Amino acid sequence: MQVAPKVRLIAIPEDNHLMRLTSTNVYLIGEREALLVDSGLGEELSNRLIFDSLAETSAKLAWIVITHVHKDHFGGAAILKEATGARIAVHAANAAALEKEADSLKADVLLEDQSVVEVDGVKVEVINTPGHSPGDLCLYIRDGGILFTGDTILGTGTVVVDGDMVQYMRSLDRLLEYEATILCPGHGPLVQDAGRKIREIIDHRNMREEQIIAHLAKGNMTPWDLVQAIYVDVDPKLHKAAERNVKGHLLKLLQEGRVRKFDRQLGGEPEHEKVAEGQPEKEGEEEPAFIYELIRPSGGRPIRRIAGIGES
Ligand SMILES: [Zn+2]
Repeated sequence: MQVAPKVRLIAIPEDNHLMRLTSTNVYLIGEREALLVDSGLGEELSNRLIFDSLAETSAKLAWIVITHVHKDHFGGAAILKEATGARIAVHAANAAALEKEADSLKADVLLEDQSVVEVDGVKVEVINTPGHSPGDLCLYIRDGGILFTGDTILGTGTVVVDGDMVQYMRSLDRLLEYEATILCPGHGPLVQDAGRKIREIIDHRNMREEQIIAHLAKGNMTPWDLVQAIYVDVDPKLHKAAERNVKGHLLKLLQEGRVRKFDRQLGGEPEHEKVAEGQPEKEGEEEPAFIYELIRPSGGRPIRRIAGIGES
């Protein structure tokens, strides 16, 4: 599907994946010489759709830019590189992760925030947007206001932030400044009203933060308690993912000095030295259950109380 002159969407269907909406999206920029934004899952259907698109445009693939090091974005990179000789580019912070996750696949070019890659006369600007993962990239074509968002912003729904909500919120603020007209996400449909969508996500995250504060104002809770109290309308299969976002919010509140946390096993000593942690945890890894407490101003009243939220 043509998104704009010299920009094509290759949508790889994913009907049965709970976390990935309806499609994983790869974008082809350029017609004679081309750049791929991500490389699909590396599975047969995914590879075939990408090679078909390259054949249709008879583009020579020069670049594969990987927005972040998750399999559904780098999976096809090795086979595409082998077949076309394209250079693989990632954010410098992700080079080691790519080698580790993708069977020693090495990046040929390391990108930084505000790097520019030019392909077939199109200037593609690089924006580092940590949050979903540390070396996340978004790409921007100023001529046309086309913003490729990887997993930083999805076509529908919200992303799992995996730790650093402070950085994620900062990344969203930065993306808003670009005044894009169309969002090309890593999954799900294109979004025509880019600014509105970005503001919606910012509002949604602020709403979740206010819900967390409102619940903590009633008593101390673990992240899992908060998920059970707040995500009542969300499929329980997604609660583990929701917990990662709740932890991301709690990390932000810790950094802002608005909550403190206690290790339940150790019996109630505040865990100050753990405040700056926030590395993504491995699937299924058990961690101690911290209890979070709202820090109230000296008057003993909650910092902010949003009446009714999460109680209906
Ligand atoms: Zn993804």
